[in-house]
Amino acid sequence: MKLLLAVFIFPIILYGQNYPQDAFQSPLEIPLDISGSFGELRSNHFHSGLDFKTSGKEGLPVYATGDGYVSRIKISTFGYGKAIYITHPNGFTSVYGHLQKANGAIQDYIIKNQYKEKSFEIELFLYPTELPIKKGEIIAFTGNSGGSGGPHLHFEFRDTKSEQIINPMHFGFKKIIKDERKPIIQGVVAYPIDSTTVNNSQKPINISFSKQADGSYLSIKVKTNGKIAFGINAYDFCTNAYNKNGLYKVKTYLNGVLQYQYGFDSFAFDESRFINNFIDYERFHEMGQRVQKLFQLNEYPLSIVSGNKKNGIINVQPNSNYTYKVEIYDFHDNKVELIIPIEFAFQETKIKKNIQKTPYYIKAKNESIFEKENISVYIPENAFYSNFYMNFEVNKDVVTLHDDSVPVQKNITLTFNDVFGLSEEQLSKTYIATLDGYKLEYNKTYRKGNNFSIKTKTLGKFKLAQDSIPPRIYNVNFVEGKTLTTQKNISVSVSDLHSDIENYNAFLNGKWILMEYDYKTKKLIHNLEDGIYVTGRNDLKIVVTDNLQNSTTFESFFFK
Ligand SMILES: [Zn+2]
Repeated sequence: MKLLLAVFIFPIILYGQNYPQDAFQSPLEIPLDISGSFGELRSNHFHSGLDFKTSGKEGLPVYATGDGYVSRIKISTFGYGKAIYITHPNGFTSVYGHLQKANGAIQDYIIKNQYKEKSFEIELFLYPTELPIKKGEIIAFTGNSGGSGGPHLHFEFRDTKSEQIINPMHFGFKKIIKDERKPIIQGVVAYPIDSTTVNNSQKPINISFSKQADGSYLSIKVKTNGKIAFGINAYDFCTNAYNKNGLYKVKTYLNGVLQYQYGFDSFAFDESRFINNFIDYERFHEMGQRVQKLFQLNEYPLSIVSGNKKNGIINVQPNSNYTYKVEIYDFHDNKVELIIPIEFAFQETKIKKNIQKTPYYIKAKNESIFEKENISVYIPENAFYSNFYMNFEVNKDVVTLHDDSVPVQKNITLTFNDVFGLSEEQLSKTYIATLDGYKLEYNKTYRKGNNFSIKTKTLGKFKLAQDSIPPRIYNVNFVEGKTLTTQKNISVSVSDLHSDIENYNAFLNGKWILMEYDYKTKKLIHNLEDGIYVTGRNDLKIVVTDNLQNSTTFESFFFK
């Protein structure tokens, strides 16, 4: 009886969550057009909210979606940029990201704390009484801050207690966002499992399909002599927008029996990197195409996926007929179906799987330590999703750690031991670079005497490099010695050839001033409305330091 109850209750908890439908309003006054859906497949993560278009502009008012209080503010150069979190009394928190600036008392609070901490980047946690918010209040203005590739509003919901991210569509937004268009299937890939042959291939192979009169899709017959699985490349489009958005739900059936399914209702941040196992990463690396695998070769903990014990893999037996069906849904229940007929057949293998063996076989479940010359590599358990032969070479000063076609889940430590032949001055400017063609990319490097190490989640080629060149400060937006009359801000551009800017400080007449850093335009900007500059002469000093502690000081003056 207990078991029976569990079977019935489990799906209710999973899919029947009662989210409030009328508690929240739109955060924008313009119609909501989606340029990014919840769970959409991004680099190393699933998208954690909805992205709303802002007519290609910044500065649109952002409204509090419900009553509550500002519980957290985070200002960062990357990621969400300027972000505000509002905690609501019903157990949920809404998040607004990539903002241009906050409004009113919130903005004053931010500026006050940035001056107090003498830092542009800050993270603040607030008490409920500090900044209470009413539904519909203007809290901020839309922008393009942080890791945003164009003006938009990132809008997110979380369970306040668990921080589990929830699809905002569940909170009544489905009603105000239009989507009458069905998802579109762009490609289907068949995966031979182990050493089976599928349509004459031991490698993953494209399966062609065509649209039927009833709007569903039918593929060519798939012939195999054993285990097989499938992947799809598919998108959704909303009524008013032409962006490729992600899917909401996918279900697969074998002869009518549910085989595998996933749905983007909710997930935790620490699951997000599993996207690199969720997609066919090798294919993504080669072709830039994100094919979602409708199976798990090795089980991994991604809560959006549920299915039977076969994890989507079909064991095709002689003298049996199979119909494999894929159902693809968007959040508005627009559905597309694909039928794949499967037949058992022995056939010639025309495309062979080629595995290049090396002495460095990785068992993904175990930790591994490899050493060669003065190089050591530490790989923790479950850093990789499956076993493979790693290519590990040391050639003069270049270390090859396979290549970035293999995704990495956890940090791998690479150490250059006993580095010799360099002066102390040179050693202090040494770092481990990733070699991208001839280009050197900085990695945060830890030094212990003559040993240098990095933690990395990207395989590739590495070498030691030195950076003794200080950052550049240029492109000043005022003329030295002139009186500023109409100007609203002072700005400079900053750049560093090798290792990127680590920190900067600016002073006006000896007082620390806030300069906002926008890495996309490489600009440091001080808003004169902060009111630090004085009537008469103003002396400006900016000190910029790179990751190897090379620093540049810029000094100038102007009049008010
Ligand atoms: Zn977003």
